[in-house]
Amino acid sequence: MLLIVNAGSSSLKLKVFDGGDEVAGAQLSEIGAGGHASALAEGLALTGVPVERLSAAAHRVVHGGTELTATCRITPNVLRRIAACVPLAPLHNPANLVGIQSVAALVPDLPQYACFDTAFHATNPTVATTYALPQAERDRGLRRYGFHGTSYAALVRILVARGTLPQRLLACHLGNGASLCAIVNGRSVATTMGYSPLDGLTMGTRAGGIDGNAVLRLADLHGVARAGEILNRESGLFALGGSNDLRMLHRSVMPGAAFALQHFTYWAVRHAGSMVAAMGGVDGIVFTGGIGENDHAVRGDILRGLGFLGVMMDEPANWQNASELHDAASRVAIWIVPADEERQIALETQAVIAGEGV
Ligand code: ADP
Repeated sequence: MLLIVNAGSSSLKLKVFDGGDEVAGAQLSEIGAGGHASALAEGLALTGVPVERLSAAAHRVVHGGTELTATCRITPNVLRRIAACVPLAPLHNPANLVGIQSVAALVPDLPQYACFDTAFHATNPTVATTYALPQAERDRGLRRYGFHGTSYAALVRILVARGTLPQRLLACHLGNGASLCAIVNGRSVATTMGYSPLDGLTMGTRAGGIDGNAVLRLADLHGVARAGEILNRESGLFALGGSNDLRMLHRSVMPGAAFALQHFTYWAVRHAGSMVAAMGGVDGIVFTGGIGENDHAVRGDILRGLGFLGVMMDEPANWQNASELHDAASRVAIWIVPADEERQIALETQAVIAGEGV
């Protein structure tokens, strides 16, 4: 059985797969720094799967940098490279490393694998990933990477299996973190997140796209560390509307709540225009993530905003969160595909393991 580990800064999600079937899972939140080793043991106990039954573990790793662009076995060399990406993802990669070390401490001989959120975007053209900075700064790894790659790879896999993958697909991963991806023939060609998951859409607590000089002003006023906290943890919907949960914002009577929702959809539509331009048009739109799968009001506003592209939704289907949302007259197909990241990690890892046996 394969253990999937998603170690966040304060949470730990575990799932156990037997082939393509999810057989157990556990989730722990509010884990303090350094608490992952005990949390892992506790989480594994909660799954009810004895350690001896595990044949491998696979980790979601947020940043793979330029070199780690496919799911792979974690060797000492790979571990060093993941550690080298810590400056690129200071909020995420340290927790992923602790997850890997915790598994190694608990089950020393268990083969471990890593699946990178950045990997799916390795196919973006250089023009899309390059910041127009001096060469010396670009050489430090300052470029766009993109994230949510496992989620995008999963929805491509699902659409391929159904035989409905459109040539030019606008994929919308709308959760607490939110991004869009332009996918041509199953490959990412552009995405809204950049060097870090901060860029692009307005998010739960992240500001989304913001001028670098505004960032410098924040750093000047508050210091770099505090500015980073403000931009990543205290901004976005939370800053505008008082909550990072759309369910709360819809219910709230505060004027800021309605504005926060408007900000979210306005910027989603603006960035969608950019993704569509990168593909030279659009044949299909897919929604995933907590908001994308459940929030008909936000989805409806985004789809109405894209009406100029010939996007026409079936309103009752949208209210019902149905899997197919396009009207018969729509020039663009529209679907909801539930996020399936852990299964994607499991399938990619199983493919690597099968390749090792050859
Ligand atoms: P994460 O990025 O943390 O994985 P999710 O994809 O689980 O996040 O999305 C979480 C967000 O989805 C919540 O903050 C909330 O705004 C939104 N959400 C979840 N369920 C609903 C719902 N039924 N209606 C509207 N929004 C929802």
